[in-house]
Amino acid sequence: MANAAGKLQAYYGGTFDPIHYGHLRPVEALAQTVGLERVVIMPNNVPPHRPQPQASSEQRRAMVELAIADNSLFALDSRELQRETPSYTAETFRQLREEQGETRPLAFIIGQDSLLSLPYWYRYEQLLERCHLLVCRRPGYPVRMQNEEQQRWLEARLTRDIALLHQRPAGQIFLADTPLFDISATDIRHRLAANRPCDEIVPPRVLAYIREHHLYR
Ligand code: ATP
Repeated sequence: MANAAGKLQAYYGGTFDPIHYGHLRPVEALAQTVGLERVVIMPNNVPPHRPQPQASSEQRRAMVELAIADNSLFALDSRELQRETPSYTAETFRQLREEQGETRPLAFIIGQDSLLSLPYWYRYEQLLERCHLLVCRRPGYPVRMQNEEQQRWLEARLTRDIALLHQRPAGQIFLADTPLFDISATDIRHRLAANRPCDEIVPPRVLAYIREHHLYR
């Protein structure tokens, strides 16, 4: 569903400490629903609102590469890892806009937990001027925002019209009906530290890398 301005290009940020099926599976379903040809994974460097990751930037990048090696939907952009400064998504999209022009539709993919914390992100209103938000469901997180003002802000931008995401460059929020995966990287780190299995929730090559590099012990 391309238009003259170019195809909708979607990005997916996060710590990926480590990457897991809760990251990948909902986004695969979202890509089907919305008609995304490519999703670019952008691991964070120093997430400003998060504790520091346990694996190094290089290790998190390597794990993402292993996870997507056989999956042509995904690509990797490691620009945030190469920066010294914190990863502010609004800033990253300012840069992406400069590179890709004002009219190309751009999107940022987040889970429902991230949507709830969005009003506390750096310049989140500017982020919406630069991209759409595509939101995946996540078990355990309410579908309403934390207060009425935030809920009104959300509702003013919500759309169910997929064509609009491909036509407009930015500004819409789409809540996708994606399958639920009760998986978090925090839980995976705890499991690994306790020597409990993660075979069902972490891609095999990523698990092999974790073992080889003695991560999360
Ligand atoms: P941690 O447990 O370390 O906080 P995490 O598992 O939440 O990590 P992140 O790398 O922080 O993973 O998340 C990156 C993005 O992936 C966020 O937008 C988050 O909402 C989304 N995400 C992570 N896990 C899931 C899941 N199980 N279902 C849907 N979205 C998810």
